[in-house]
Order: sequence, then C-alpha cells, then structure tokens
Amino acid sequence: MNGKTILILGGGIGGLVAANELRRLLPREHRIVLVEKNAQHAFAPSFLWLMTGDRRPEQITRDVRQLARPGVEVVLAEAQSIDLPNRRVVTTAQTLAYDTLIIALGAELAPEAIPGLAAAAHTFYTFDGAARLRDALREFGGGTVAVVVSALPYKCPGAPHEGAMLIANTLRQRGLRNVDVHLFTPEAQPMPVAGPALGDAVKQMLEGQGVAFHPLHKLTQVAGATHELSFEGRDTVKYDLLVAIPPHRGPRIMRELGLTNEAGWAPVDRHTLATKHENVFALGDVTAVSIPGRWKPDVPMLLPKAGVFAHAQAEVVARRIAAEIMGTGAGGTFPGIGYCMLEAGESLAGYAFGDFYAEPAPQVQLRRMGKTWHWGKVLFEQWWLAPFGPRRAALQWAMTLGGKALGIPVIL
Ligand SMILES: Cc1cc2nc3c(=O)[nH]c(=O)nc-3n(C[C@H](O)[C@H](O)[C@H](O)COP(=O)(O)OP(=O)(O)OC[C@H]3O[C@@H](n4cnc5c(N)ncnc54)[C@H](O)[C@@H]3O)c2cc1C
Repeated sequence: MNGKTILILGGGIGGLVAANELRRLLPREHRIVLVEKNAQHAFAPSFLWLMTGDRRPEQITRDVRQLARPGVEVVLAEAQSIDLPNRRVVTTAQTLAYDTLIIALGAELAPEAIPGLAAAAHTFYTFDGAARLRDALREFGGGTVAVVVSALPYKCPGAPHEGAMLIANTLRQRGLRNVDVHLFTPEAQPMPVAGPALGDAVKQMLEGQGVAFHPLHKLTQVAGATHELSFEGRDTVKYDLLVAIPPHRGPRIMRELGLTNEAGWAPVDRHTLATKHENVFALGDVTAVSIPGRWKPDVPMLLPKAGVFAHAQAEVVARRIAAEIMGTGAGGTFPGIGYCMLEAGESLAGYAFGDFYAEPAPQVQLRRMGKTWHWGKVLFEQWWLAPFGPRRAALQWAMTLGGKALGIPVIL
C-alpha cells in the first residue's frame, strides 16, 4: 500500500477532529497534514464566559499543536489557493500536495457588510471582541443594550440568545437596575430550524431572564454617532450599548475557486460531506447542507452552522477516508443528530437536541433549564482543551457515562 497524504485546511473544531481521527485510524505510512493560520486555538463556545468574566483568556486558548494527536503534521500557515487538477494547496509557508483534501475553513465574519456596524458594535463572536465586551459591560452605566443578529446565516443558533441572557444576568449581578436588554433578529422566532414549540420555549427562557425578543428585524444600517439602528420597514431604535452578531460569509479561497454556491457556502452530500470534486470533502461552517423542511415554499432549510455538527461530520469524513484507504468498508454516514446547551446565567442552561434530518421536518426538543446542562458544557470545554493524555481520557469517560445516565447523545 502506497502512503497517502490527507491534507486538512483549517484547524478549528472540524479540522482538528478530522486530523485526530484520521491519525487514530491510519498507520504512520500515511501522512495527516493540518494547515492552520492561527497558532493559538480559541474555543468559541467559551467566548461567552470570557465576556461574562467567568474565564480568563488563557483558560480558553491552547497552542493548536497541543490539541493535535501526536503524528499529525501541523503547518502554521495561511492557505492561499487550491489547485484542484494538480492536487496542491499553496500556503504562506509552502506548497503542499495531497491525495485527499478536507476543507474545514469555517466562516469569515464581515461586519463591514452593513454600513456603520463595524465601528459601532461590540461582538462576542470573536475572542478579542468578547474580551473587549467584558470590559464594556464592567463600565456600562445603564440604559438600553441592543443585541442584534445582523444577517443570516450565522453560526451557533443558540449563541445570540445565550449572549443576550448572559449580558442581562451580568448587568443584574452588577446591581444595575436601569437596564433593558433587547434581542433583534431577522428570523421569525428563536432557532426557527427547530420548529415553533422550541421557539416558544426559548422565548420563555429569554423573557424569564429579562430579555425582550424582537423577531423579523432586518438590520440595514447603524448610525454610531447618534446610537441609532435602522431596520428594513421599521422605526429606528436607539441604543446605549450595541452588541452584534456580524454577517458571515464563506472563505475567500473557496469562493474564488467556484467551490461555493451563490450565497458563498460549499454544497456537499449531506450524508458523506463529499463535494462534487473527487477526493475533496468540505465540512462544518463552510458547508451548505439542505435538510428536510422549508422556510417558505421555495426556500429549503439548511443545517445550522454549529461545532457539534462540524465535529460529527469530521468523524464521518475521517472514517470514510480511512475505510477507503484500508479497504475496510464504507465508514458510515452523518445522521444529522445534534444538540446544544443554552446558557442563561447563574450556572443554569437549557438543552436542545434532536434529529435535523427527520422527515418531514427536524425533530428537536428542549429539556428544562438546570445546572446539569451547564456542567455538561463545562466538562466538554475541559475535554476539548485537554492535551492527549490521561486527563483527557478521564473526561471523555465521565462524559460518556453522563450521556448514558441522562439518555442523551454525546459527540466526542
Ligand atoms: C460565541 C460562540 C459560541 C458558540 N457556541 C457553540 C456551542 O455551544 N455549540 C456548538 O455546537 N457550536 C457553537 N459555536 C459554533 C462553533 O464554534 C462553530 O460552528 C465551529 O467552530 C465550526 O467549526 P469549523 O471547523 O467549521 O470552523 P472553525 O472552528 O471556525 O475553524 C476554522 C479554522 O480555519 C482557520 N482558517 C480559516 N481560513 C484559513 C486559511 N486560509 N488558512 C489556514 N487556516 C484558516 C481558522 O483560523 C479556524 O481555526 C459557537 C460559536 C460562537 C462564535
């Protein structure tokens, strides 16, 4: 058997899982090469705790090489272009040849896409942004906080709701009384992909935490000087502190290569994550995965962008590639199962889980708020950031047992 090279672009959630799983499954004669532009990996779900002051920056970052299984070759460089016919990728460090390519480059944030937004808004969608927002919340003297989902799609359907609830809770804990927290979104309800019942349950959670929810608000412009938000077809809204989920777009090199649809995301087979190019897979936030159900009669629903999906897809892609190389069968398919913990503050969280490939529409449930879900999220964070070794194995064991006891899926 000739040694193969599997090249993975992007060492975030999906890229790291794919690299580590491939290294676990394939003998050393096969090279696993991971290209990542940032030496420091920051765990995005913990940005919310960075914002609230519950985590210090160094607690949620790791050198990406520590998180890669021994034997994964990590190249710290930016991928600049992909040469599909010749199976090569040009990076800022070197040109890399591959037999199989996995693209896990995530989504780019584009705050400049909405006039006035970049200069006026805070965000907890980046590591630096969450740290700056933590300081702004400490200094905030009271007034109206507007949390705005500025465009669709965005990653982690739960995060804007969690962010708004945690901001309300943080300001309450500071003893501020004169605070109103509002959440604006172009969507018709919270987490629309999960159906109306779940949307109502999340609305109740928001209400319970003192967050006013405003659906069907499409942001068009921000006037930073006068602190005003303009929404399509609606009156302007005044704010004192603006927190935005910036517009997202697909990575430049994929758009330039024509690997994306009109919206800028990569269409893939929803079960195998294969692109239309032989030996090229895409997974995680870069993808556009159609799922059963419709937004409107002519608009199909898409799988939300979330780490839990990037993770599970990466395992499937790795197993399929390894099975093909080793000649051991098909390696499995991605079933569309996912979950998320919705942090509300005070160590409380809700838990939404379900089957996003269910016909005729996704089946998603929300379990009642409790501390279990919060501590489950903490456990996952600790596992994700632990280097390979006994501590990581013990955390994995604890989560597997916990999942069995609670009768819920655990993706590790
Ligand atoms: C505040 C917040 C909270 C969240 N909470 C949750 C949660 O609770 N549960 C959940 O499931 N999801 C959550 N998510 C979403 C989750 O983080 C993403 O969906 C997930 O990271 C997607 O994984 P990915 O591998 O597709 O992309 P990423 O993890 O974003 O990885 C992409 C990687 O590619 C690298 N890269 C990009 N371009 C290049 C290039 N040209 N060359 C080299 N490297 C490059 C990037 O540096 C990055 O490391 C949250 C996101 C945010 C922002």
